[in-house]
Amino acid sequence: MSLTVVGSVALDTVETPSGRNEEGLGGAAVFFSLAAANYTPVNLVGVVGTDFPARHVELLRKKGINLDGLERVEGRTFRWAGRYHEDLNQRDTLDTQLNVFEHFHPKLPQAAREAEYLFLGNIHPALQMEVLEQTRPKFIALDTMNLWINATRDDLVKVLKHVDALIINDSEVYDLTGERNLVRGARAIQEMGPRIIAPKKGEHGCLLFVEDRMFSAPALPMEHVIDPTGAGDTFAGGFMGYIAQKDSTDFDTLRRAVIHGSVVASYTCEKFGPERLAEIDLNDIAQRYADFVELARF
Ligand code: AMP
Repeated sequence: MSLTVVGSVALDTVETPSGRNEEGLGGAAVFFSLAAANYTPVNLVGVVGTDFPARHVELLRKKGINLDGLERVEGRTFRWAGRYHEDLNQRDTLDTQLNVFEHFHPKLPQAAREAEYLFLGNIHPALQMEVLEQTRPKFIALDTMNLWINATRDDLVKVLKHVDALIINDSEVYDLTGERNLVRGARAIQEMGPRIIAPKKGEHGCLLFVEDRMFSAPALPMEHVIDPTGAGDTFAGGFMGYIAQKDSTDFDTLRRAVIHGSVVASYTCEKFGPERLAEIDLNDIAQRYADFVELARF
């Protein structure tokens, strides 16, 4: 089954204890698409400026990602800059330049409209709603961030009513519900609409709440993490890509989808930006999936 993602396409400047990557390929929709394309056909909907390097477009195209929905408009591409602490769970955003993203209104080409699975990346909830008005997917997942939870809560609550799965950071569960306890927080979000909640806990893995059932997945303990930027979006891409491939959202499929999300996210952390993610294939995924099975089996 095909999958559409709407979200940011960016040039990221990232500093980590391992080094610095200046204006590299980034953006939530990029990490998501590169991960999901291992599993299923992906339509990327987003916007870039005239300065967006052709080699990045070529890389996405080579991976088989449908770019009919990637608009190129006059102006500069969205830019984001961040610096990680020694503790890679801590990150400061140094700069956000919306540029062409400021006036972005997603226009979905036919293939993107017809996809059965939809991922609404972390953008203004009013824009997420504009996407919903153009589509009738059978399964919708959404990501958001504290900015939208705090500044545009009413719009977000409206979109959540239509959403099947919410994939967010664990701290955002608190921002959204006021609940410090993840179980109670997830239950409170289920009252808002989504039946599936996947709170990500960075290097500590991910939880999955499906109606009244729970699953806990570890993250792969890694000796060298070079750059965790986009790991969350990569996780979402692996998760959604897998369920779109299986065309199923039963509990067992969702549990395996969480492991696939964790597998691809671990690759993203091995190099700056999506460089490592773009190199992997199904063999790499199968190998690391086996590592996860071994890691969590008892
Ligand atoms: P993550 O590490 O999963 O939080 O994702 C980082 C990616 O999100 C980077 O590639 C950024 O370009 C992108 N990003 C950062 N801030 C925003 C924003 N306000 N809206 C959309 N995308 C963003």
